[in-house]
Amino acid sequence: MILVIAEQDAGRPTALSLEARAVARATATAAGLPLEAVELDRDGAPPGDRAAALGRLIAVRRPLAVIGPGSDSATELLAHVAARAGLPLAANITALDVGGSGAGRPLQLTRQRWGGTLLEDATIEAGPALFTVAPHAVAAEPVGTAPEPLPVSLDVDGVAGDGLVRLVERVPMGTEGVALEAAPVVVGGGRGVGSAEAFGMLDELARLLGGTVGVSRAVTSAGWRPHREQVGQTGARIAPDLYIACGISGAVQHIVGCRGAKRILAINTDPDAPMVAAADWAVIGDLHALLPPLLEAIRDTR
Ligand SMILES: Cc1cc2nc3c(=O)[nH]c(=O)nc-3n(C[C@H](O)[C@H](O)[C@H](O)COP(=O)(O)OP(=O)(O)OC[C@H]3O[C@@H](n4cnc5c(N)ncnc54)[C@H](O)[C@@H]3O)c2cc1C
Repeated sequence: MILVIAEQDAGRPTALSLEARAVARATATAAGLPLEAVELDRDGAPPGDRAAALGRLIAVRRPLAVIGPGSDSATELLAHVAARAGLPLAANITALDVGGSGAGRPLQLTRQRWGGTLLEDATIEAGPALFTVAPHAVAAEPVGTAPEPLPVSLDVDGVAGDGLVRLVERVPMGTEGVALEAAPVVVGGGRGVGSAEAFGMLDELARLLGGTVGVSRAVTSAGWRPHREQVGQTGARIAPDLYIACGISGAVQHIVGCRGAKRILAINTDPDAPMVAAADWAVIGDLHALLPPLLEAIRDTR
């Protein structure tokens, strides 16, 4: 059996869960094995308790592979399970193949290393093996694809979690408007924006285009914007239809987060900036001179 971790947000599968499901279904079909799913609400028990419960389930059901989405929460959960149960875990896979036959079948995987700049092929021979799917590296399975995986419930009652994390309170992040990971348009701002105040232009552009603002680490380090808006290796992985990168140089750690964008428009004073090379279109110039007339033109069309 192949077990997929399906994270839910407000009762709906998250986009990353549908990506995990695509890999899990392809693996199950290729191996001739049934596909089962554990549904987890993002507002559930602490990771230690969940890991204990999932570890118990894996010990009983012995899936060939457990495949989770590449979210922080699923990666944390599977890392806990791997550490507690001594199971192999490969994070950020983009493909999985099953060789041989029987319970000890080797699993051949391709995974992203070094923030997605390198693809590595590897084989796991011990099991059950745990995997997370690299965010936005594979096409998500459409919602409602039949047959639905067989639901398996995770029973956290009576499990002995590690007690290291205790849930005290849940405080909503207070994000307004469109979520970064799901936004169709992201207006990115980097050090070139120059100040927290100047982000007002980017906020307005994002609002007019039905999107949201994402930022580089230089911006969060300067305290101009909160970390939840950071795009990149240590931030969010985004996949909008359009990413407008204003005053962002395009360091590899940033590109990792925005390479899933369908189209990139770079606005930069430096024609040699890596962001310009990575973009579909670039406007070479000062964003402070370019954005006000652009905003005015868009406002006029409303
Ligand atoms: C372990 C590690 C993890 C990291 N994780 C992340 C991450 O998740 N996300 C991330 O973003 N970074 C990350 N970084 C940092 C990354 O290496 C860069 O330092 C950072 O992305 C640079 O931010 P920036 O492009 O805004 O600033 P800069 O590199 O300083 O670039 C500013 C750009 O703005 C342009 N510019 C300046 N003025 C204007 C103007 N008036 N108009 C138009 N353009 C202008 C400049 O030409 C330049 O290209 C990480 C680094 C490490 C070591």
